[in-house]
Amino acid sequence: MSAGGQRGSIVIAIDGTSASGKSTNARLVAKALDYAYVDTGAMYRTLAWYCLKNGVDVHDAKAVAAAVRRWKTRLDCVDGHVRLLVDGYHPAREIRTAETSAAVPHVAAIPRVRTWMVKTQRDCLRFGNLVMEGRDIGTHVFPETDFKFYLDASLDERTRRRQAEGVHEDLAKRDRRDSERRAAPLMIPLGAMVVNNSGQTPEQTSNLIIAEVRRRLPA
Ligand code: C5P
Repeated sequence: MSAGGQRGSIVIAIDGTSASGKSTNARLVAKALDYAYVDTGAMYRTLAWYCLKNGVDVHDAKAVAAAVRRWKTRLDCVDGHVRLLVDGYHPAREIRTAETSAAVPHVAAIPRVRTWMVKTQRDCLRFGNLVMEGRDIGTHVFPETDFKFYLDASLDERTRRRQAEGVHEDLAKRDRRDSERRAAPLMIPLGAMVVNNSGQTPEQTSNLIIAEVRRRLPA
């Protein structure tokens, strides 16, 4: 076993609440360390989008599980960012709509979906060292990693951040759904460093994570 993941790769797991700065910070950390960046929320969003597009009821666990067995996906890595493609297509914009955001916690609560996602996310090791962000990375996807971080910020601040991106969403409702589901609920992973970044700039938060990783990396 390596310092962080397996097969000799290091994995930095960044979990946290919605709009807690996971994506921004994970990207900055990945860039600084030259690791590949993996946005697992985008993978769940891609499935929610695929279901909506193909008339699959996201509340019907069997139908969604059948969709995840059937869809034709592929991973690639462009400019250090790992992407999940469906039928060769990367739905970058489509997965950010309010409709997709509302649908995604439903598909994410389905155990068979999570099994598929965890396997696919672990497959990302083929791209080398990783910074992976999500809700269950330190608890379920790479519980063996020594590099776990949990980000949070006040609800007011998180709501302001989303609004600044032009997205008006009930974040507390999505967090509640993610925290209360039975399959891999959002929680602070054992051994994670908790960072409340209300009032911090992304540079401050990412520098703190980078310094902690460097401190823990074997010389
Ligand atoms: O991170 P993002 O807001 O894009 O995630 C969208 C949704 O995907 C979350 O609200 C959650 O329902 C689901 N998700 C998850 N596990 C992950 C990443 C995201 O359940 N590792």
